[in-house]
Amino acid sequence: MRRLGASVATLVDRFVAGELTDPWNLRSWSAKHRALPVSADMGGCFAITLTGTLVSFAWDSDSDIRVETDSRTVRIMIVQAARRYPEFAKFVPVRPDDALVCRSCGGTGRIHIDGQPVPEGIMCSCGGLGWIREGEEAP
Ligand SMILES: [Zn+2]
Repeated sequence: MRRLGASVATLVDRFVAGELTDPWNLRSWSAKHRALPVSADMGGCFAITLTGTLVSFAWDSDSDIRVETDSRTVRIMIVQAARRYPEFAKFVPVRPDDALVCRSCGGTGRIHIDGQPVPEGIMCSCGGLGWIREGEEAP
């Protein structure tokens, strides 16, 4: 994903320089590892490197960086990146013809409980796309 990496390089520079918001206090981590944080939760953070590789780390061991290769996770994090950084919108995958409707959200991308949408920060297992690939059913 060379093109993605080129976009990441510019965004890392802007992130480290303080031009982009840093809700997770990761500017120094980003400068050290040359990766752009794209999503985080209580357990840790996902980031995209200059080669377009998705990596993750846990909050209690931020130098123990793992490469994420699960296709669903990578796709979801591209979607999350596009929500935070509009430059990623062009990398959000187009729904393939053989995609399956996500059963968790019924294809809407948003989870509803008793007819009410859950808060914005709670993500469906499809990442908000409303579709998944065969074999990616949520447990
Ligand atoms: Zn869904």
